[in-house]
Amino acid sequence: MQTPIPDYLAEVLDKLRDDVSGATADYIPELANANPDQFALAITTATGGTYSAGDTNAEFSIQSISKPFAYAAAIMDRGLDRVIESIGVEPSGEAFNELSLDPETNRPKNPMINAGAIAAHGLLLGDKADPEERVARVLELFSRLAGRQLRIDDKVFQSELETADHNLAMAHMLKKYGILNDDPHEVVAGYTRQCSILVTVEDLSIMAATLANGGVQPRTRERILDADTARQVMSVMAVAGMYDGAGDWLTRVGIPAKSGVAGGLVGVLPDQVGIGAFSPRLDKHGNSQRARRAFEQLSKDMGMHLFAPSNGRLDVVDVKLETLKETFSLQGNVQFTAAAELLDLMEKSTAQNAVLLDVSGVYSFTDVARRMALEGLRRLRLDKRHVLLHDPWQVLADPHLGDGLYPENV
Ligand code: GLN
Repeated sequence: MQTPIPDYLAEVLDKLRDDVSGATADYIPELANANPDQFALAITTATGGTYSAGDTNAEFSIQSISKPFAYAAAIMDRGLDRVIESIGVEPSGEAFNELSLDPETNRPKNPMINAGAIAAHGLLLGDKADPEERVARVLELFSRLAGRQLRIDDKVFQSELETADHNLAMAHMLKKYGILNDDPHEVVAGYTRQCSILVTVEDLSIMAATLANGGVQPRTRERILDADTARQVMSVMAVAGMYDGAGDWLTRVGIPAKSGVAGGLVGVLPDQVGIGAFSPRLDKHGNSQRARRAFEQLSKDMGMHLFAPSNGRLDVVDVKLETLKETFSLQGNVQFTAAAELLDLMEKSTAQNAVLLDVSGVYSFTDVARRMALEGLRRLRLDKRHVLLHDPWQVLADPHLGDGLYPENV
C-alpha cells in the first residue's frame, strides 16, 4: 500500500486550483515574472516524515518568511534581552511595510514587519559585523534548518535592491533613532539578500518542523535552535506573522504562520507539524491567495488548531512483526503525527497474511487520525491482507473500510 497523505494534499491543491484571483507582487519586478499557476504543499511531522504534492521542486525566494528564522539567529547571536531592547513583540495591526515604531521607545513593534526585520538583520553576529558575514550567517542557518545547501537568487536580489527606497527610508529612520548602528545601505542590502534565498515547500515545512520540535531538526536530529528561542519565534509568529490579519488568522486557522511576497507561506503547530505552501498570486494583504486557502482547508479538515486541546498525552506507535501477522499498536491520544507514522509503517508492511491494528492503549483519536488509520486498513485490505482490529474500548468509532466491510474484531 501507499500512504494516502500525498493524495490528500493533492486533493487540497485540486480543489483550490481554480482560484486565480489576486496578482503576483509587482513592486519587485523579478517576482512579477513568476509563473502564477505554480502551486505546492508540504507537511513535515515533528518526527521527520515529509509529505508533499504539486510543484514540489519549484524554488522561490523566501522573502518575509526569512524574518522569523533571522530573528532566531539574532537571538542566538546577541541574547534575547539585547534583541528586545531593539525590537518589540507586539502586534502592529499594520501592513508588512509599515514603519510602525513605538512612540515611546522608537523600537519597531515586532520582527515580522520590515522595520523589525531590518533591525534584526543589523543585530546579527555583533555591532559593526561584516555585511557579507551576516548574509553567510543566515544562509548557513537556513541551510541547516532545511537540511540541504540553499542559495541566493541574485536576480531577485538585484531587482529588489533597485526598488528598495521604502526599506532604505526605514533603515535611515532606524539609524536616526539609534536602533541601527551600521550603514543603512549595507544592512538593507544584506536583508534583501536574506529575502532572496531560494526554497521549496518541503524546505519550508522542514524548517518549521524544527520549530515545532523545539529546535531539533527532525530529519538530521541536530539541535539547531535552543528550545527557548524556538518558543520565542513561534510566539511572535502567532502574534504578528500575518500582519494586519493576525487576529483573524489565529482564531480561525489557528496555525502560527508567516507569509512572503513570492507566494510562500509557512506554518507551525508545536509538537506536531511544520507546513509549507506556495502559489505566487497574492491577496490584498500580500499573502498568497491559494496558499492561505490551503492552510484554511488543512486546519478545517485535520482539526489543526493551536488551541484545539490534545489533553497533553503523547501519542505513540509501535509495530511487531511475526511471519504471517504484523501488529501495529497505538497508544495515547492519537493525532496526525502518530497516524502519519502508522501509515508509513503500514506502507513498509511485509506481513504475508494478516495485519492487526491494536488500539487497546488508545485514549482517543482526533477525527483526522481516525480517518487516516482506517484508510491504512482499507488499503491493506485492497492489498489482499486479512485485516484485524483489537479495540476493546471502542475508541475507533464505526471502523468501516468502505464497501460496507469492517475489520474482524479480535
Ligand atoms: N523583501 C520584501 C520586502 O522587504 C519582503 C516582503 C514580504 O515578503 N512581505 O519588501
